[in-house]
Amino acid sequence: SFSADVVPQAPEDPLFGLMAAFRRDEDPKKVDLGIGAYRDDNAKPWILPVVKKADDIIRNDPNLNHEYLPIAGLTEFTSASQKLILGGDSPALKEKRVTSLQTVSGTGAVHLGALFLAKFYKPDSKRIAYFSDPTWPNHFQIFSNVGLSYKTYPYFSKETKGLDFDGFYNTIQNADEGSIVVLHACAHNPTGVDLTQDQWKKMAELIRAKKHFPFFDTAYQGFASGDLTRDGWAIRYFIEQGFELCIAQSYAKNFGLYGERAGCFHFVTSPSSDAQSTVGRIASQLAILQRSEISNPPAYGARIASLVLNTPELFAQWEEDLRTMSGRIIKMRKALRSKLEELGTPGTWNHITDQIGMFSFTGLSEQQVTKLREDSHVYMTKNGRISMAGLNTKNIDYFAKAVDKAVR
Ligand code: PLP
Repeated sequence: SFSADVVPQAPEDPLFGLMAAFRRDEDPKKVDLGIGAYRDDNAKPWILPVVKKADDIIRNDPNLNHEYLPIAGLTEFTSASQKLILGGDSPALKEKRVTSLQTVSGTGAVHLGALFLAKFYKPDSKRIAYFSDPTWPNHFQIFSNVGLSYKTYPYFSKETKGLDFDGFYNTIQNADEGSIVVLHACAHNPTGVDLTQDQWKKMAELIRAKKHFPFFDTAYQGFASGDLTRDGWAIRYFIEQGFELCIAQSYAKNFGLYGERAGCFHFVTSPSSDAQSTVGRIASQLAILQRSEISNPPAYGARIASLVLNTPELFAQWEEDLRTMSGRIIKMRKALRSKLEELGTPGTWNHITDQIGMFSFTGLSEQQVTKLREDSHVYMTKNGRISMAGLNTKNIDYFAKAVDKAVR
């Protein structure tokens, strides 16, 4: 039977546990810096105006029904997703070297990719996937669920609170040839630390030399800098260099469609005379995997994203909304850094503005994190990560003072 030694009690998901503790806290000054979801200046979830508009259009469409989508999802959605991440003039699209399936948000895309690799990537040899240390913790669970082994590469330097490029480079150089290298395309979660374009170029060269397989996870395109092209640069560079790779794309953050689970998985093959037939075979196998896992993807979020991506006026408004979100976060970074510097809080705080995207790795210790929670009702993950979106003009002074107190 299912006794405790057969089914032991699993630990609570740390992030969702943190959310529950925050909800229980009755102090009016409490601050939630845990969850990775955008909040407006009133600490409220924000429905992007463009999403509201698209939603109204779709709801009033007399032809709307609730039929199943195809196995690979809504075609207008997957093709617009390809253009968004690869660029409309991508050589891979011109040469028809890309196959894409709509997935259950970014998590589903990572899962489908990992499942495909587990089944078809060097099935007779030991495959290792490399994740950044630290990474989005779900990477570990998703890859091990499909039976892939993993290791980590150094990424975050505790000293500089920036990138440990040498450590990263050396580990990838010493990895077995043909390893899977999971890369965050932009706005690295949880550190907010990205490679420079020059560092990406060096890494691409190394990955090519070692015949590794790049697996891009992109959950923050447009949300990081406010510029979709800039945030997609690394992936486009790898494609230009002719890599075979895959991409897990999420629309949770950049559309604020968290619960609607809109995402896309792309597989891109290298340029070659039989690239199209390779991609066709890969597509056929991905369809079978998708069928057995989810049968077909959920429609609503993809309909919203698709309408926006395929309608120039809505697309322009979306870009505006992206600038609103990224702009507010960048403003909060500047404000937090300058408040801590004004207070003379021990330590250096330049990393707050050097880092990008939803998260900042503050460098606060687990002890300081606990102190912040107990003394000031500030909630963040114990690795010292804060969601910048949880800060606003009303709580930032309070938060800076609380940090100052915890650090001294
Ligand atoms: N990958 C990374 C790096 C993330 O940070 C996230 C969300 O936090 C995801 C993937 C997937 O998110 P979702 O499944 O909500 O699209």
